[in-house]
Amino acid sequence: MFHRKVAEEIIPVETKIWSCMDDSCNTWVRDNFKNGDSPTCPICKSEMNEGSKLLPPIENPLQSEIE
Ligand SMILES: [Zn+2]
Repeated sequence: MFHRKVAEEIIPVETKIWSCMDDSCNTWVRDNFKNGDSPTCPICKSEMNEGSKLLPPIENPLQSEIE
């Protein structure tokens, strides 16, 4: 059963991300979705650079629900 939250006002928060170091590739992933301690780009397999981005908070669906 779904319980859907109504997203009225989503305030972006500074979120840790990893961005692809290849200039022609704009791929980035959230830190909680990275594929290892030194993640590689899922698209072009380049190294990724640690950074941050203002993003609306989302829950990682792979993590168990905390009620
Ligand atoms: Zn890439």
